[in-house]
Amino acid sequence: AAKKGGKNTFRFFDPAMQHALEHRTELESALRQAITGEQLRLHYQVQTDALGRTLGMEALVRWQHPRQGLLVPGNFIPLAEETGIILDIGRWVLKTACDQLGAWQVRSETRHLTMAVNVSTRQFYQTDFVAQVKAAITTAGGVPTQLKLELTESMVLQDMDNAIAKMGELKALGVILSMDDFGTGYSSLSYLKNLPFDQIKIDKSFVQGIESNRSDALIVHSIINLGKTMGMHVVAEGVETAAQLELLKEMGCTEFQGYYFGKPRPVEHWRSESSRPAGPPASRHNSAAHQR
Ligand code: C2E
Ligand code: MG
Ligand code: MG
Ligand code: MG
Repeated sequence: AAKKGGKNTFRFFDPAMQHALEHRTELESALRQAITGEQLRLHYQVQTDALGRTLGMEALVRWQHPRQGLLVPGNFIPLAEETGIILDIGRWVLKTACDQLGAWQVRSETRHLTMAVNVSTRQFYQTDFVAQVKAAITTAGGVPTQLKLELTESMVLQDMDNAIAKMGELKALGVILSMDDFGTGYSSLSYLKNLPFDQIKIDKSFVQGIESNRSDALIVHSIINLGKTMGMHVVAEGVETAAQLELLKEMGCTEFQGYYFGKPRPVEHWRSESSRPAGPPASRHNSAAHQR
């Protein structure tokens, strides 16, 4: 029998590692079941203009876990990406968001809204991705020019020629292309000019430092000017306070998203907002801000 704790003891499994492995396997099979068991949810967060009017929504995926409650993407997207489950999740998100976009066409109050969908790297590089997008829109009776795909620069940099070709096809469908988390990667002007993005989203990490950190303020201001120069819309994400909003407006930013206007919520939340007598859904951002 092996000597306990001796230097030459050979153990196949370190208990902590064993535990982590079991946890991971459990999570993985639970995640697979999440899709078939209808445990995925989309929450929607408003994107507004400078007057606080709703331009559209961003769909953000959640996992209603049977025991752990509502999980945010940070809890499961990394594993989903490693295991490839992200392809099924991404397909579900695209379809569900497009169905919602199609449903918005039915009412005059919501007909103008855009729907932003986050795309993962593996999903984007699937050979049939453009076909998937086209099918999702067509099936839902949605309008391609109101579907916005949020891509990140690291995604596009991975295989730039392929990405440019795909983006061209998506543009040909009429889809809006948005560069998410702008400023966090290797953003360089030389490649940005070769990519057919319609808009850039300033990452919330810069927006949140805008009042206290001079370099964050300078970065945000430069991004806004850069976007304008290149004829792109610039969206500030993570706007939490009136003061941040004011500064962003002074710097020339025209589109906004963040807790100040409303947190991501199930669609029912916005539906009840819009059933109030005055105005389009969540256009009165004060009422949304009260719910924080
Ligand atoms: P993202 O696309 O950059 O989305 C913005 C994140 O910031 C969201 O987190 C949103 O809830 C949060 N946020 C919005 N406004 C504020 C604010 O004012 N303050 C703060 N502190 N946070 C704010 P969430 O929902 O946890 O999503 C995190 C990331 O997960 C997303 O970042 C996106 O990269 C990814 N993700 C979300 N949904 C999907 C999806 O359906 N597919 C894929 N592939 N990725 C997704
Ligand atoms: Mg996004
Ligand atoms: Mg973002
Ligand atoms: Mg982000």
